[in-house]
Amino acid sequence: MEASSLIRNLSLQQRYWSIIVVLTQIDIVRTFKSGQGKIQKLTLMDKDGSKIYAIMFNEIIDRFHDILQTGKTFVFSNGQIKEINKDFYNVNDKFEIILNNTSNIQLSVSDTIDSPEIKLSVIEDIKRNPNLPSDIILFVIKVHEVRMIYRNVDKKKIVKRDLQVIDLRSKENIHQYTSSFSNTYLMTSLQKINTSEHSTGEIKHYYTRVFAKGLNKEGSIWYNSCNTCKSKVTIIDGIVQCTKCTNENVQYSLRYLIKLSVEDNSSTAIFTLFDNEAEQLIGMPVIELEKIKASKIEDYNNIIKNILEKEMTFLVKAQDKIYGSRTFRSLTVQSIKMDSNEVGELQHKKIKIEEV
Ligand SMILES: [Zn+2]
Repeated sequence: MEASSLIRNLSLQQRYWSIIVVLTQIDIVRTFKSGQGKIQKLTLMDKDGSKIYAIMFNEIIDRFHDILQTGKTFVFSNGQIKEINKDFYNVNDKFEIILNNTSNIQLSVSDTIDSPEIKLSVIEDIKRNPNLPSDIILFVIKVHEVRMIYRNVDKKKIVKRDLQVIDLRSKENIHQYTSSFSNTYLMTSLQKINTSEHSTGEIKHYYTRVFAKGLNKEGSIWYNSCNTCKSKVTIIDGIVQCTKCTNENVQYSLRYLIKLSVEDNSSTAIFTLFDNEAEQLIGMPVIELEKIKASKIEDYNNIIKNILEKEMTFLVKAQDKIYGSRTFRSLTVQSIKMDSNEVGELQHKKIKIEEV
């Protein structure tokens, strides 16, 4: 075993190694979507200033939980050295460490490394070197609405939010900038969603973190849907009719229509879920669920029960609709984050800064 080598001396396939590093960051423990298993990431820095991620899974997280502390110097030894995925931001351009059963972490008594000082950038630095990771303090003047846009390159639907900011530390005259984020989780309470001002026809998007309390008090959570227009079809004496398409014997299939009662500590609401979002919530396609309901009702009830009392983050589309003389705010789910641990943390990511 090579004693106390530096991060840059680590090599792929090397199983026995040790590095002296300061623990600069401990990420939150995230659970996987399936609920099976958890992951936690540590950021380590050696005396040369090189950094590397150390990643722990499941029982390894529990094993080291009590000794880890940011700002302290540790000797990390053994574990898998793995090539990084170049598609994602990483602090090291080659490797990351997966800590496993052979790994060890010990507080270093002889050597200590000082935590790096955070070097703050100003807007001009970022304009000059837009691809370098940087930390910056910005004064937020205005938070714009969450918007859904279609990205030009691949027509993929993405969520976007603009912030209007000022860099008060900038030496230039104070300019205003807008920064574009995507998938930022700035939560809105149900009360605010229920009561915010909407003009007629306006569509707004909100992120909200709520508890699922119940679904579809009466009737089933799917319907026979016309394959052409998705309206509900009626089947009388074997003849299938769609009121919208008006032709007889239309093709139809089962489609989810879930009315999910939700609540947070401010209010309650009912969210509508179709297709993909409903399938994500239930965990299976509608045809499969229908089979289960027909063959074993207890299994079906358990699946439904499993959804409830869970905290989830929803992106909802809000639009006011008129029924007779009554206006009602329709809230349709656009995407779901089941794992509440996944939210609340701004990832290192590229943001676009433009001058206003
Ligand atoms: Zn139709």
